[in-house]
Amino acid sequence: MRTQCVGKVGATSLAAVAAVGFLATAAVQAQIEAKEGAALNERVPEIQNRIAGDYSRLESLYKHFHQHPELSLQEVQTSARLTKELREIGFEVTPNVGGHGIVGVLKNGDGPTVLVRTDMDALPVVEQTGLTYASKQHARDKNGNDVGVMHACGHDMHMTCWVGTARVLAGMRDRWHGTLLFIGQPAEEIGAGARMMLDDGLFKRFPKPDYGLALHCDSRSAHGHVTYSDGLALANVDSVDITVRGKGGHGSAPQMAIDPIVIAARIILDLQTIVSRETNPTDPAVVTVGSIHGGTKHNIIPNEVKLQLTVRTTKDAVRMHTLEAIERIAKAAAVAARAPEPIVKVDPGEFTPALVNDAALTRKTIPALKEVLGADNVQERPPIMGGEDFSRYGRQGIPIFMYFLGTFPPERIAEAKKEGGRPIPSLHSDLYYPVPEPSIKTGVLTMSVAVLNLVGK
Ligand SMILES: [Zn+2]
Ligand SMILES: [Zn+2]
Repeated sequence: MRTQCVGKVGATSLAAVAAVGFLATAAVQAQIEAKEGAALNERVPEIQNRIAGDYSRLESLYKHFHQHPELSLQEVQTSARLTKELREIGFEVTPNVGGHGIVGVLKNGDGPTVLVRTDMDALPVVEQTGLTYASKQHARDKNGNDVGVMHACGHDMHMTCWVGTARVLAGMRDRWHGTLLFIGQPAEEIGAGARMMLDDGLFKRFPKPDYGLALHCDSRSAHGHVTYSDGLALANVDSVDITVRGKGGHGSAPQMAIDPIVIAARIILDLQTIVSRETNPTDPAVVTVGSIHGGTKHNIIPNEVKLQLTVRTTKDAVRMHTLEAIERIAKAAAVAARAPEPIVKVDPGEFTPALVNDAALTRKTIPALKEVLGADNVQERPPIMGGEDFSRYGRQGIPIFMYFLGTFPPERIAEAKKEGGRPIPSLHSDLYYPVPEPSIKTGVLTMSVAVLNLVGK
């Protein structure tokens, strides 16, 4: 893309366009970009050589992480391994920043500070991929239950690309200037880790970054490809717990009881009117009741029913309205049934703000990625209603950019698109796994290029 654009302007004589101010500016800008592009182009073979040299090491590191996943807030061994990896290549590493978070700093003269973030935690999922290096790990979750543990969200791939990028950049110190701030973030899956690191002084104890970068695995796009959203990428995420209260009794004598199951059913249906009847149709929002628990037996009316909701919005005002409406609807249903007031809890600790990619940083980074991968392999995609707490660094005033790394075989994606084709497992599925080699190589290449594009000489 950048090369084509430069080619066109280059064909016009500079003197001719100088007569028109705007065109002159465009030509100068194109020349600057041509220079930057050329500099980046020169560096690409060196980056690729370094990745090739490191590859077997990175693949075993990836398989190590895949086989040793740890749940959110339990990332003890994972953070210790990342600390060791960064120290070996000359980063100054501080462990235990916001729980098991780690911060690696590599100073290399005057220049911008760039944050590169990986998350570290895995999920309570029993792996079913059948891979030779599948996880067999078990752990105790926060409620004391024994659960299988799996890197079903690809955070093992994120860590491997993060280490690979750190190795490339540490080895190319003569080609850039500035400060690298490589952070290993705990507890992304519970939306807590970024907040914990920030609360522990991430941007006070360490250099405040000028830019923040991160990648996330994507199961729906092919390896060798990356996708991104310009501006809004991911949604606000809130968790709401509702306890619907009634009055228990015999199932044969409802007149003696207040049935919380009927009230809960009414609430669930009424909640769907928030999005369909109260929200501006051009503002996306989702209210999903993901869990309902109440009662023990056919003929007993229970005392209460518990609901768990996930709420997704993209604007702060819509978020506040939706949360208020949930409480209003739950209380109104109880009043209508002469029941005690329900308990509605919104856990602020589980709030993940919407992720918005910085416009200028996106405009700066995308041409560089297109240059190394080819324009067709870098695609814009619409925002999705998932969430990611990388957004919190953006809310601190840091221009951030997160892109999505294709990880799945192209032929499987083509097959899934056919009628009756085998569907592709989504992230968090017990069947999801990235194909290691192309995913690692593209992840390290794109992240190294994205950083060098900001700090390169
Ligand atoms: Zn996840
Ligand atoms: Zn994730």
